[in-house]
Amino acid sequence: MKFGTKAIHAGVEPDPSTGAIMTPIYQTSTYVQSAPGEHKGYEYSRTHNPTRRALENALAELENGKHGFAFSSGMGAIDTVVKLLNPGDEVISTNDLYGGTFRIFTKVFEKYGIKFTFVNMSDVREVEAAITPRTKLIWAETPTNPTLKIVDIPAMAELAKANTILLGVDNTFATPYLQTPLDLGADLVMHSVTKYLGGHSDVVMGALIVKDDQLAEDIAFLQNSCGAVPGPQDSFLVLRGLKTLHLRMQRHSENGAAIAHYLKDNPAVAYVNWPGFTEHPNHAIAAKQMRDFGGMLSFGLKNDSIEAANTVLSNTHYFSLAESLGGVESLIGHPASMTHASIPREERLKSGVTDSLIRLSVGVEDVNDLIEDLEQAIAKVPMAVNA
Ligand SMILES: *Cc1c(COP(=O)(O)O)cnc(C)c1O
Repeated sequence: MKFGTKAIHAGVEPDPSTGAIMTPIYQTSTYVQSAPGEHKGYEYSRTHNPTRRALENALAELENGKHGFAFSSGMGAIDTVVKLLNPGDEVISTNDLYGGTFRIFTKVFEKYGIKFTFVNMSDVREVEAAITPRTKLIWAETPTNPTLKIVDIPAMAELAKANTILLGVDNTFATPYLQTPLDLGADLVMHSVTKYLGGHSDVVMGALIVKDDQLAEDIAFLQNSCGAVPGPQDSFLVLRGLKTLHLRMQRHSENGAAIAHYLKDNPAVAYVNWPGFTEHPNHAIAAKQMRDFGGMLSFGLKNDSIEAANTVLSNTHYFSLAESLGGVESLIGHPASMTHASIPREERLKSGVTDSLIRLSVGVEDVNDLIEDLEQAIAKVPMAVNA
């Protein structure tokens, strides 16, 4: 089955009791048993719920996995992954990790005796050098936020396999439409479903998808034991969102490409981070492992100041100033004062988050309106003195 067909049909069966084509919202906490232990596969909704089950099956199919698990947020999903480990285990991850992931790793799990090492994951040799006999998990994110670096998933998978380490990939930015890490050798895929999979900025949810039966059993145990599960209403909304995932991602990618090229030609713009440019340092890997380049990009201004960025941020009309990404509407953000505000300036500059860096989540509006919006907002920025 091709992706577009899967997006519409995966996981969904006509409801057995009525034939309803859309999976109903099973708003129930428990299920009546005909005799003790005799039930129809559902006992209690923390463990199983038919609406959530339909969504979990859909997510598993879209990622070419075997088992899907939905969580009450992306962080709930990551929390579960780390709980697969034991005190003394080590994790290698990327030094431009999503801020919330960095926080749960260092501020929550370090005190339980798990060690985290952060390297530049675009360089396979740095990852290799960080491996010790205690390394149990490599946690990758690609493309990364907000500088759109690319990690070579097959190279990571090779390294992980050779050292019997689990490879997890946060596939939030790419979605299974653009990239399927399990096909590239990863053991585990994670999503902030809040973003593109939900797609309409109306749900907070997370997911894990795996192929291996034992790993699935361990995750199911933790999902039920720790209890960070989403409700049936949210599961329904995401099932609905998934049906247009391929259409939305096509348009996000088209609009993203048009805006990346427009910005590159704008004389007030210093540089554009977008993996579709042949001069992007990891373009060849992106072109190999991704189907297209998506709707996320970031750019810096020649007038590289927080004030200049603020001028753009407060003058766009269709690009709304907000955290998050992946919805149908375009969003604009300023990492230096929003997502990366807690990182010291020197550190932040080293990872490419300059004062004027602006991140766009390009939506699916008419791209001409989006370009006009950026054009008039950037035109209000005073040129740098030495530009
Ligand atoms: C948003 C996000 C998360 C966290 O997900 P929540 O649904 O907000 O808990 C993790 N990773 C990435 C890349 C994200 O963008």
